Amino acid sequence: MKHAIKRNTNAKHLECLQCETIYPIDDYFEGCPACQKKEKPSNVTMIYSNYKKCMLPYDHYISMGEGCTPLLTVDLNEGPLYLKYEGQNPTGSHKDRMSALIVTRAIEKGYRGVAVASSGNAGLSFAAYCAYSGLDCIVISTRELNKNIQSYIKYYGARLILTETAMQRWEQLKQLTKEGFYPGSNYANPPIGTVHFGVQGYKCIAYEIVSQLQGSIPTKIIVPTSRGDLLAGIWQGFKEMEMNSLPKMIAVEPFARITAVLKGEAYTNSFAGKTVLKSIAGSTVTYQAVSAVRQSRGEAIVVSGEEALEAQRQLMKKGIFLEVSSASVVSAYQKLRRRRAIDKDDLVVAIGTSSGFIEI
Ligand SMILES: [Zn+2]
Repeated sequence: MKHAIKRNTNAKHLECLQCETIYPIDDYFEGCPACQKKEKPSNVTMIYSNYKKCMLPYDHYISMGEGCTPLLTVDLNEGPLYLKYEGQNPTGSHKDRMSALIVTRAIEKGYRGVAVASSGNAGLSFAAYCAYSGLDCIVISTRELNKNIQSYIKYYGARLILTETAMQRWEQLKQLTKEGFYPGSNYANPPIGTVHFGVQGYKCIAYEIVSQLQGSIPTKIIVPTSRGDLLAGIWQGFKEMEMNSLPKMIAVEPFARITAVLKGEAYTNSFAGKTVLKSIAGSTVTYQAVSAVRQSRGEAIVVSGEEALEAQRQLMKKGIFLEVSSASVVSAYQKLRRRRAIDKDDLVVAIGTSSGFIEI
């Protein structure tokens, strides 16, 4: 067999993040059935019998060497910032951690391929991982998708479908799921995050950070956020480590979405706003994102496209090239320093989700 797949026998069952209902291990593409019925959709998460290391659904899965990314130190005027550089992953973004597990799950269940609605990074990642593992791949994006990324996705052998609007991508994906493709992203509206098998992959970022800080626990983690897979996955990882303290999770967004929910709006609402920060765009919020911010007593912070671009250039002067949506974390850090929401005693890690070279 080309790819050895072995389930983790410590995986016990699934639990809804919102209503805490327990379910047997399965896919639940639209999240917790009980919450879905109440039109309050929520992701489920996997529960294990022990957490001696970063527990994943599989002991052996299809890997292209994702993870174990460097923790860089960026010396800004405001003080040092740790940057977890996810651009080092095989296709240049954090999405590879998720693709590895979802592609493995699709093969285990005998799916013909994976289909994904993406603004770029997830599409590239799934196209590569499907090609590596011999699965078909369909990437659904909008016509605004960078022309070079369009070419790369096709070179990996994936089929590319371009829609007029971002919401139309989800309709297409829902249809492809009915036709036998495993969904590599959400397709429901109001949305949940990506299927839990994928989100699990992000937990290891928490373990890696603590190990790279030689056992120190950060006080704040800054994460570029759209549907919150990364935010929720890292938060889950920190909780599972059962350490003495937990970091506050800070969600960076291009306009007020989580910010509005924290002030009282329903997370199932639609939030209007335009942005050039494509990787964190979109008009929706998920329960998992709000829950990670609330549980950790963190916050959401808005960063504009101009501010992120400025931060991207500042980072390049330090030798680091992040995608502009990712560079928003540096701008968020600077704003929080100025507001004294971060002080000199804080140990702050920002997640640099993807390489700037993707956008060229
Ligand atoms: Zn539920």
